[in-house]
Formats: sequence, structure tokens, C-alpha cells
Amino acid sequence: MQVPRKAEQHVRLNPEQGEYYDVLLESPVLLLSGVSFNAWYQRLTHILSTGAITLFYEMGYELGKDIAMELRARSKNPADMFSTGINHYFIIGMGRIEISIAQLLRMATLKQMAVKIKDNFPAIALGRTGRAECHITRGYLVGGVEALTGKQWVCEEPMCLCKNDLYCEFKLKRAPVKKRQV
Ligand SMILES: [Zn+2]
Repeated sequence: MQVPRKAEQHVRLNPEQGEYYDVLLESPVLLLSGVSFNAWYQRLTHILSTGAITLFYEMGYELGKDIAMELRARSKNPADMFSTGINHYFIIGMGRIEISIAQLLRMATLKQMAVKIKDNFPAIALGRTGRAECHITRGYLVGGVEALTGKQWVCEEPMCLCKNDLYCEFKLKRAPVKKRQV
């Protein structure tokens, strides 16, 4: 699915006033550098060890859920909804989500889905670490998909820019049990 041309409609930028506004969420937004994201990630990993993975996953989960709830409130058309959500991820600077339209439209009945992102912000910010690092994106995708389908999902990232792969790839699967897996 391509990023629509009217991507800018979801965020208003006014550098002269230092004002940045997310129209979809009806909220001011903060510009965050990759340097700062990397510093947070390193510091939290140092303090929390693998607990930092959970923290970033949960941060992403809330973001994805919030966006999906807004989309559901604004449109009943699934194609519009998904297009707007993918577009929002792009326009806030997170990256270009690539997912087939067939998967999007059949999301409610599918047991698994694959998502590709060639320029995922967390991976670019963290650099080549040798591990899959986009936990915030895994959470974002699960939060969004769960809010849209009402079912529970898990997500793995078998390929990541941080592992020197050409892109980040996310495999979403319907969760076999009720407990949400991080
Ligand atoms: Zn990644």
C-alpha cells in the first residue's frame, strides 16, 4: 500500500512558533531525535535489562491502540482506516509500513500477517547492534491490530535493520492463549 500524497494533513508543523500538532490524535507533538531515542534505549536497558524490551513494547502498544481507536471513531471504511493509520506512522517520522491490501481487508479472519518497514525510525536510531530492536514497533502493530480486530495477537521481528537485514519485517500471529505475550 502506497503512502497517500495528502500525508501532511495529519500533522501541522509550525517551526517559527515551535508548534507541532497531531490532527488525528488532537494533541501537540514533540520532535524526538534518533540520538535522544538511542540514549533513552541504552539507559533503560542498562537499568532494566530485558525489562526495557517490555517497556518499549508497551509504549508502542498504547500508541497503536490509541491510533486505531481514533481511526475506528472516524471511519467505517476499512480501506480508509488502514490507509490513514499507515499514513500516520509515516508522517510522524516512524517509517513506511508495507502491507498488502489483501491482508488489511481480511485482517479479522487471518491467523497471521507480515509487515515490512524499510526505514523504521527505532532501527535507524539504534544502528547496527546485531539484534532485532524494534520492540516499540512490535507493540504498536499489536496494539493497533488488537483494537481493530478485538482479538489477541503476538508479534515477532525476524528481520531488522539492526541485524544488517535490508528491512525490518514483522510477523503477526493470532495469540493462542488469552495472556498477552511480550
Ligand atoms: Zn527493526
